[in-house]
Amino acid sequence: MSRPIPPRAPVDRSDPIDRSGLRARFWEKTAFDKLSDREWEALCDGCGKCCLNKLEDEDTGEVALTRVACRLLDDATCLCSQYPIRKQFVPDCISLTADSIGDHMYWLPQTCAYRLVYEGRPLFPWHPLISGDPETVHQAGVSVRGMTYSEYEIADEDWEEHIIEEPI
Ligand code: SF4
Ligand code: SF4
Repeated sequence: MSRPIPPRAPVDRSDPIDRSGLRARFWEKTAFDKLSDREWEALCDGCGKCCLNKLEDEDTGEVALTRVACRLLDDATCLCSQYPIRKQFVPDCISLTADSIGDHMYWLPQTCAYRLVYEGRPLFPWHPLISGDPETVHQAGVSVRGMTYSEYEIADEDWEEHIIEEPI
């Protein structure tokens, strides 16, 4: 006996971030403050880790990630569901800029492309700018796809129970 195998839904490989027509390996030869807006946005790998809520140790300053995500994070796409108007809903959402990036190094994820470039390190092969495929960040197990809870579901005082190791 065998049961018919249902067809698998096709994976949507269209890139939600417009990375078309950019200068080849622009991040290696251009300072952050000289990047165009599109180049700056294209540097994001779409991992979603910066949208996880974090806990900072008051004594050591150490920052821990939790699997409790910002209310606007889409767990399936790892993207902000309201990116253009996010500040209407989450006023304290941080906008990374060329000027401010240094101030955020202490909490940015280890694999964040902005951190890597800031530190003079290469992008990983799974970065969509290298692979040409926005799915590779998920296939590499680096993103938060399928592993988050919404902050609506978890009380602030319980976040500590949801501390995770950064998926790298
Ligand atoms: S951690 Fe960095 S690369 Fe990943 S989604 Fe956030 S800004 Fe983009
Ligand atoms: S508002 Fe959007 S970009 Fe900001 S932390 Fe939340 S999900 Fe991320």
